[in-house]
Amino acid sequence: MEITITRTQNPKAKPTDESNLGFARIFTDHMFIVEYDKGIGWHDARIVPYGPLCLDPASPIFHYAQEIFEGTKVYRLANGEVGSFRLHDNARRMNRSADRTCMPELDEDFQIEAITRLVDLDRDWVPSSKGTSLYIRPTMISDGNSLGAHSADRFIYFVICAPSGSYYPEGMKPVRIRIEQRYVRAVKGGMGRAKTGGNYAASFKATKEAMDAGFNQVLWLDGREQKYVEEVGAMNMMFVIDGKIVTAELGDTILPGVTRDSVLTLAKERGMVVEERRISVDELYEAHAKGHLTEAFGTGTAAVISPVGELEYMGKSIIINNREIGPMAQLFYDALTALHRQTVEDRHGWTAVIPRYEY
Ligand SMILES: *Cc1c(COP(=O)(O)O)cnc(C)c1O
Repeated sequence: MEITITRTQNPKAKPTDESNLGFARIFTDHMFIVEYDKGIGWHDARIVPYGPLCLDPASPIFHYAQEIFEGTKVYRLANGEVGSFRLHDNARRMNRSADRTCMPELDEDFQIEAITRLVDLDRDWVPSSKGTSLYIRPTMISDGNSLGAHSADRFIYFVICAPSGSYYPEGMKPVRIRIEQRYVRAVKGGMGRAKTGGNYAASFKATKEAMDAGFNQVLWLDGREQKYVEEVGAMNMMFVIDGKIVTAELGDTILPGVTRDSVLTLAKERGMVVEERRISVDELYEAHAKGHLTEAFGTGTAAVISPVGELEYMGKSIIINNREIGPMAQLFYDALTALHRQTVEDRHGWTAVIPRYEY
């Protein structure tokens, strides 16, 4: 499918202060859009100036939340080019989320072409300071003009890009996490494995209550027994117990993070012992009491690695590694950010350089 390009006549002023970008608060000059109609398939792929979408108020996206998204980043390399990281994994996960939410798949190579062409056009927006990146948000929504409660006949896939600052402007800082005892995020057979907006809507109340109590995030327990730790808001969780890296096994209820997979791959290569299995809160608290729980950290595209300094469950707190960044968290943060910036050899085929297209 051909992608037509309409350049903006009014380029926006680019941010001059890269130390104050925040996370996805401003967007680049262009966006990618492609539309789907039942019986026709995907059509009208185009890059156009960034701007509002015009949708019918009866569009099913507003009523039934048939929506999925992805999140990845591209980085400024030392030679001035722009590098991507594991784009294929995001494209593949987009299609798995599409399957679960009854939305049409979009060819993975085409998703990547759309993203790379858009990034190429807006490449001057990619910041270069330490910790900065251009955040990419591919999204698919349902569309139409009737309220029938069934999968839609029309869909829109779009990609927008936002220059983003370092997640840790003052350096990596261990966070305080509440283990959620009341609300659940996902249950077996549900949508926990899909990257869909509804999972976020379901989580905001618990997150707000935790934040009001001074925590940064909640750690979700399994929805059935509420005994086993699953994941944090938008991060998978890893624990270092007796020197082994322990993380919840993937299943219906956990988002299979690209960062999670990268960390586990790098850990195994370094000869570390990795266990993907169920982990109960009781086990964590017992391991902590015995001095065996030496580190906990989250993994996700936004923060890369987020060390955890405190866990709280039913009013009882444990302090991890004296609220300091542990050696494993630091090691994986350094290894991943070096791969992102392509300053070390990539032995996995994870990285690519955004091509310069001819127009
Ligand atoms: C996106 C996301 C993650 C992290 O996935 P990455 O691919 O590592 O960014 C973890 N949990 C949830 C719920 C997410 O939406």
